[in-house]
Amino acid sequence: MTNTRVSRHCPVCDAPPTGASTFVGETLNEKRLTGFSFASRKDPEYMSHRMVQCPACDLVYVDTPPRQDELARAYHQADYDSSEEANDAALAYIAAIAPTLGRLRQRSSALEIGTGTGIFLEHLQRAGFKSLVGVEPSRAAIAAAPPNRRAWIRETIFVESDHAPDSLDLICCFMTMEHVLDPGAIARSAMRLLRPGGAFVTVTHDYRSLVNRILGRRSPIIDIEHMQLFSSASATQLFRSCGYADVSVQAFVNRYSLRYWTRLMPLPGPAKRGALAIMGRTHIGGVKLGFNVGNIITAGFKPE
Ligand SMILES: [Zn+2]
Repeated sequence: MTNTRVSRHCPVCDAPPTGASTFVGETLNEKRLTGFSFASRKDPEYMSHRMVQCPACDLVYVDTPPRQDELARAYHQADYDSSEEANDAALAYIAAIAPTLGRLRQRSSALEIGTGTGIFLEHLQRAGFKSLVGVEPSRAAIAAAPPNRRAWIRETIFVESDHAPDSLDLICCFMTMEHVLDPGAIARSAMRLLRPGGAFVTVTHDYRSLVNRILGRRSPIIDIEHMQLFSSASATQLFRSCGYADVSVQAFVNRYSLRYWTRLMPLPGPAKRGALAIMGRTHIGGVKLGFNVGNIITAGFKPE
């Protein structure tokens, strides 16, 4: 991507990378980088920047990441083709967030950072939220949003000053905290934008989950677009260090079509194409199956 890389400290606890062990070495193939490399829920490419594991807070992170402007450009131009999977993911998230919603004093306003086609906002509307905003940098994702969601979505990265302080009951950031250079900045901004008693909720991968430990280097989480990977410990530390109270971390189940699970699986190309071809001729590919795929939902509340 560039040769003007600058080294960074751990973006959760600020420990220097000198004491960190290598988690995965750099595997880049510039010729294979496509518009889809920065899209959600794409086929895994098994490419990554070098990542190190912080001995202080357990975060895995790219210690010499691309610049922010390069990341922003890549996401703005990213392709988008996963509406069915986006809908499936949103169903899993609304189920997983239910205990947090149950603790909110009111359901007046919500913000989703990285809203994609805005499908999750539709679930929040059904859950009673009145004012909904989603920010999304990918023009293609927004173009795929149905007309009833367009008014909620703003084509931009998250900028704190676009929103009023102490104005939100819920801020969600799903499968996005891995992609930004400073996840702590988002968590601190969210704290300022929430009303007292409001909740900040993230969904991230958990690199320590069973499935990710089994797949190792072949896990879809080993990805060029991930600037850091969380675990229960590092997600908890991020929230607590930003002042959140009653921080909880839970694993949950995702339900996706068999067709999509097959795309994610680390199979040789011909085997995968053969399986997908059979599914294309039958209804089997559309069958939904639920698995714990190593995702965690983390929630914390702004102190009253
Ligand atoms: Zn750390």
